[in-house]
Amino acid sequence: MPRPLLATIDIAALQHNLAVAKTCAPTAKVWAVLKANAYGHGLERGMRGFAAADGLGLIEVEGAARLRELGWQKPILLLEGVFEAADLQVVAAHGIEIAVHCAEQIAMLEQTNLSSQIDVHLKLNSGMNRLGFKPAAFRAAYERLRTIPAVRNIAFMTHFANAEHAANPGMPLSEQVARFDAATVNLVGSRSLSNSAATLLHAEVAADWIRPGIMLYGATPGVKTAAQFGLRPAMTLTSELIGIQEIAAGDSVGYGSRFIADRPMRVGVVACGYADGYPRHAPTGTPVLVDGVKTRVVGNVSMDMINVDLSTIPQARVGSPVTLWGEGLPIDEVAQAAGTVGYELMCALAQRVRVVER
Ligand SMILES: *Cc1c(COP(=O)(O)O)cnc(C)c1O
Repeated sequence: MPRPLLATIDIAALQHNLAVAKTCAPTAKVWAVLKANAYGHGLERGMRGFAAADGLGLIEVEGAARLRELGWQKPILLLEGVFEAADLQVVAAHGIEIAVHCAEQIAMLEQTNLSSQIDVHLKLNSGMNRLGFKPAAFRAAYERLRTIPAVRNIAFMTHFANAEHAANPGMPLSEQVARFDAATVNLVGSRSLSNSAATLLHAEVAADWIRPGIMLYGATPGVKTAAQFGLRPAMTLTSELIGIQEIAAGDSVGYGSRFIADRPMRVGVVACGYADGYPRHAPTGTPVLVDGVKTRVVGNVSMDMINVDLSTIPQARVGSPVTLWGEGLPIDEVAQAAGTVGYELMCALAQRVRVVER
C-alpha cells in the first residue's frame, strides 16, 4: 500500500483557467507560463493543459528543449534568456525565443555563430529593479541588438512589481506602464507586460501578449479569491488520517509541545508533512479539511505528518479523507495562514508525492 498522500492534477482546470485568461485579454496572445515544472504540476501536464495557448514561457533551458521533444510546435520563450553562451546553440536549434535583459546577454549574441536566427525580447527595467535595462540604456541596447546577425525579430517586455496591490506605497503599475510606453515609443515589435495580477486587474495594459502564470493553476496573487475570478484549482493535495489521539486538558501535541489542549479533545494525524511540501511554518489554526469539514492544524508540522483538531468532526476515524489544499480548500487560504503564497506551496510539492491526473 502506498502512502495515502496524493496530488491530483486537473487538466480540465488548466484548460478552463487559460480560457479565463483569454477572456480577460481577448485581443492579446497568451504566453502560458510553466516555469518550475509548471508550478509543480508537471511540465508535460502543463503543456497539455495549455495546448490552446499561443506560446509557453519558462525559465529553464532544458525544460524548453523538452517541450520541443514532447511535440510543442508553437513559440517558446525563455523568460530570463540564456545563462551562458552555450545555451544559444540549444535555443537556435529548437527555435526558442529569449528575453535579453543585460549587456552580457547581448555580448553573447554578438559573439555567437548560429545556424539560424533567434527572436529576442528586450526587457525594460521599468521600476521593479529586478531584470532589465534601465530606460536610459534601453534605446542603445535596442540599436546594438539590431546590428547582430543572430537576431531576427525584437520584441519588448517588462514586469510589474505591484500589479496586485494598487495601494502599495512603492512603484505604481501606471508609472511602470508610462516608462515602458516611453522607452518603446516608435519601435516596431510586439509588447508584453502582464503577469496574472495585471491580467486579472488591469485589462487595459494587456498589449500584444500577456504572460499569466499563477492564475492558470487556479490561485491568485492576492486581492480577490480565485473563485471570485472564476478560476478552478488545478492541484488538489489529499491524504488520510493515519492515527487518532484522545488527549486531556493540559496535554500537548507534537515536537516542541507547541499546542496545549485547554480541554479534552480528539487529535487526528495526517500523512503529510514538510518533506512532502507542506509548509513547516504553518501555525496552529492553518485550515485543513477532514471528511469535508474545515478544521485546523494543531502543533508543529513534522517531516511526514501534521496533527489536526477533530473536536467538531466526531465521525472522523483512521482512513478519513483529508484535503490539504485544492478543491474545497483554496491553496491561497492555506498559504496565507502559513505566511506564504500559493506559488511557493505548489512549486514545493515534493518528489515523493504521488501524482495522478483527472
Ligand atoms: C513568472 C513570470 C510570469 C508569471 O507570473 P504570475 O504572477 O505567476 O502570473 C510572467 N512574466 C515573467 C517574466 C515571469 O517570470
